[in-house]
Amino acid sequence: MTASQSASQGATPGQTGKLGKPKLAFRPLPVPQVDVRGFWGDRVDAVATRTAGILYDRCVKARMLEQIDPDRPSPGVVIPFHSPSPDEAATAGNEFTGSTVTTQMFWDSDWGKTIETAAYSLYRRRNDELEKKIDAVIDMYGRLQQPDGYLSSWYQRIQPGLRWTNLRDCHELYCAGHLIEGAVAYYQATGKRKLLDIMCRYADHIGETFGPEPGKKKGYCGHEEIELALVKLARATGEQKYMDLAKYFIDQRGQQPHYFDEEARARGADPKAYHFKTYEYSQSHQPVREQDKVVGHAVRAMYLYSGMADIATEYGDDTLRAPLDRLWDDLTTKNLYITGGLGPSSHNEGFTADYDLPNETAYAETCASVGLVFWASRMLGMGPNARYADMMERALYNGSISGLSLDGSLFFYENPLESRGKHNRWKWHRCPCCPPNIGRMVASIGSYFYGLSDDALAVHLYGNSTARFDIAGRRIELTQASNYPWSGTVSIGVEPEAPTEFSLHLRLPGWCRNAALKVNGEAVDLHAVTSDGYAAIRREWRKGDQVEFDLEMAIDRLYANPQVRQDIGRVALARGPLIYCVEETDNAGQLHRIALPPTAEIEAHQQPNLLGGVVTLSAVARKEAFEDWDNGLYRTEPPAVEEAKITAVPYFAWDNRDPGEMLVWIRSAG
Ligand SMILES: [Zn+2]
Repeated sequence: MTASQSASQGATPGQTGKLGKPKLAFRPLPVPQVDVRGFWGDRVDAVATRTAGILYDRCVKARMLEQIDPDRPSPGVVIPFHSPSPDEAATAGNEFTGSTVTTQMFWDSDWGKTIETAAYSLYRRRNDELEKKIDAVIDMYGRLQQPDGYLSSWYQRIQPGLRWTNLRDCHELYCAGHLIEGAVAYYQATGKRKLLDIMCRYADHIGETFGPEPGKKKGYCGHEEIELALVKLARATGEQKYMDLAKYFIDQRGQQPHYFDEEARARGADPKAYHFKTYEYSQSHQPVREQDKVVGHAVRAMYLYSGMADIATEYGDDTLRAPLDRLWDDLTTKNLYITGGLGPSSHNEGFTADYDLPNETAYAETCASVGLVFWASRMLGMGPNARYADMMERALYNGSISGLSLDGSLFFYENPLESRGKHNRWKWHRCPCCPPNIGRMVASIGSYFYGLSDDALAVHLYGNSTARFDIAGRRIELTQASNYPWSGTVSIGVEPEAPTEFSLHLRLPGWCRNAALKVNGEAVDLHAVTSDGYAAIRREWRKGDQVEFDLEMAIDRLYANPQVRQDIGRVALARGPLIYCVEETDNAGQLHRIALPPTAEIEAHQQPNLLGGVVTLSAVARKEAFEDWDNGLYRTEPPAVEEAKITAVPYFAWDNRDPGEMLVWIRSAG
């Protein structure tokens, strides 16, 4: 067993392993225990071979090394954020507006996510050159760390003397959280524990600074992240104290007197002079157990709910489960784009009002969809339930991976559902949170496929892959053969080293209306074995056992609740987990002219040479003709309408060819 394999099994060797095991919890399999091929294999390869290296190079080009390297002079001067004009942003403006910003208070978070992406990529493919570069970054953090464990490139090198004075705005614990996640991943991938030790020292310092005990600060971060990171650290080290600290930050959030008010007064500021006006922005307007509306900054919200779900799972805390379910309902029934995108407004990078889901101006930050995947996957820690897994799948296959070009080199920050052709992928962003976030999610996709408990394995996602795990002390290999998401046929081979009894929970996706299940050739009555959207098969599994799951993958027309004014009279196309869009390159210009009759037959076509291999949809629609309007703007005669064949491609793959218009919600004719 290699160091990385042993590390992935749980407690760190040589540590005390005091962490209790929650009852009935389903934990994800560590990344190296799942090999993905096919659809996800291609994407992981793109991240491992291109994105991971690109992230490092672009962080360097954005001058992030200068901020963290204690051997270089401090960049010292804060150069104001350069806000590009719309034209700049649409063209080259986002490529390296980094050249006008040499310092940022959240650069440590970008290093943390870049290290995490590199770590997961190293599972896939050794890369000594990248590993050496990351080791050098870790060495810099080692030299930067203060004797008491504190570590923040911003507060040590740019604004010294001000640590822990503005948790509301300055991302101090958020940065710690991302470096912790990077440290856990890098240790598990390489067996090197230098960054893990650095971050344990820092987490210990944070634990000495914050907590319920007299004399400690009663604060928490304005940008959630530290909570879920401490849960990961607790799981990797076996140290209960990190779990308890995560729980403290969750419990303390939004309590009165409000920490952000008191903190502002302590630094001589007026708490009311707050840029975002309301603490809803950081979900600290109420204690978390009283919250029932998704509000504020979308990424912050997703990270908070992820941490709450972890704590609910680890402590069996139903007082957190109830608000999580209320928040889940509020998001998924009133505030979620059909792509799994969320947070429509650029103003607060977040939520506005129920059913406010504009398409062309949708902010729908890549990080927010990635955050929804994090939250959903953690809700599955409390047991298999398609309510969460369906949304995880939707965000995964649509609104999150749309943020990364097929070749792994270009990115989206915003993920609109309609474009007039000016929204195109960029090399970098002045606030580069999304590239390493989508990178680390894709590179660790294997861990989202399964949940493992003491005597059960839940299959949340389908696709060509092999998983290795232990149940009752026995090693089991489970292989999926499938062309998912292009086909709904899944063959699962179970290979235990010796006969082993356990339950296999198979997700029955919400989009599937007809399914058939066979075990060793014998049909299983799905109705009888399915609950919460998962079919459970309990048996003594033996070598060579074979499960055949056939999920009918129909083409769906989807309609929005008429309260969504932007989508009324429109239809979206879906097939299996994929949401489709039309692009100018396949459909000529002015996509708003297209109208799809409700009776039009829609056909699916395998296109192995298009966009890395996709299934396209086509139909005969109608279109207002390109007539000569004699230079007029209005007339009494309605426009002529003609037939037009339309072709739709999966939304995630848009803007990988010639730039042009794009549209998800097509007008419905008649
Ligand atoms: Zn982002």
